[in-house]
Amino acid sequence: MEMPTDTTDPCDICGATMMRPVLAVSLIGVTRTHVHRCPACGFRQVRPRLTAAEIRNLYPSDYFDDASPVGYVDYAREFQRRQREAYFLVQWLKRVRPEGQLLEVGCALGFLLAGLKRSGWRLEGVDASAFAAFYASTRCGLNVTCATLEEASFQDERFDVVIQKDLLEHVADPRGHLNETYRLLRPGGWLRLVTPNGETNLRPLMVAAARPGAMLPVLDQGHLSFFSRGHLLRLFEECGFRCHRMRVIGIRRGLRALGLLPGQGRFVRQTVAAAPSPQGAEVSGAMDTERFERLADRIDRDIAERHSRLRSWPPYFQLHRVMKQFDSLPAWCEVGYDFECLLQRL
Ligand SMILES: [Zn+2]
Repeated sequence: MEMPTDTTDPCDICGATMMRPVLAVSLIGVTRTHVHRCPACGFRQVRPRLTAAEIRNLYPSDYFDDASPVGYVDYAREFQRRQREAYFLVQWLKRVRPEGQLLEVGCALGFLLAGLKRSGWRLEGVDASAFAAFYASTRCGLNVTCATLEEASFQDERFDVVIQKDLLEHVADPRGHLNETYRLLRPGGWLRLVTPNGETNLRPLMVAAARPGAMLPVLDQGHLSFFSRGHLLRLFEECGFRCHRMRVIGIRRGLRALGLLPGQGRFVRQTVAAAPSPQGAEVSGAMDTERFERLADRIDRDIAERHSRLRSWPPYFQLHRVMKQFDSLPAWCEVGYDFECLLQRL
């Protein structure tokens, strides 16, 4: 059954009220829904919008479980990646000011924040996942609240720097989210943001869905919005941010997703029909604590087993960074897998 055009809820980018369904998908394999497209500006988004409770249910604790088919895998590798990022971020923070207040929105298990401890900055995190907040607080000793940014309701102009990686595409209302980010940054404060290139994200799914007899493609990670460079620049400007630097990263991956290099199929998982949601809302109660402890132990064990002195060595970080430079381009070449943006609150 086809979804009707959404004539009530305006496009987040241009405000037109005629988002039309263009792709039936299964969201993380649990919810059948449709990606809609705005004919006026081309912005694509999952409609109808998910409620906060529905979004929370997309990320149960097994989102972070290697053994689960959904969500993240290989947290040991993620840990090393965040260590490298933190190393360079500390250098950048020192240039911004000797100390300040930093917030990471969607901080997951707190790996990046943990790496920033030596910066001398005061660090806070929010994450909507109860397990993530549990792990970051108890295992990394961080000040992390289990909440969405909106729920956390921080005071005005509290932060000097806000980091949000791979978050904007997950929120129900990206414009509202950026307005909220603006509110809690001080004037002149910095926002470091990474979000996928909507085209490289969706193209493999569109191609797979167009094949005869195709099953429902799965939006694996729970992405809800699909931005182009133009969409992001308009949003940033209208929400009060100046874009200092924007580039695309992950060029080889992006070219694969666009079908310009072989391997487009690896981006697509398909399912016959969406299964019902496996579990209800998750709260960090006494029952969960035991389960969370077991999962946290396993993640800690994986990280310890995969620890490599070479990969934790600053010269290796430098080498890695040089190699990464070859995998990035200015943002107007919209072939990379992600947009990486450095913004300043006006
Ligand atoms: Zn639009």
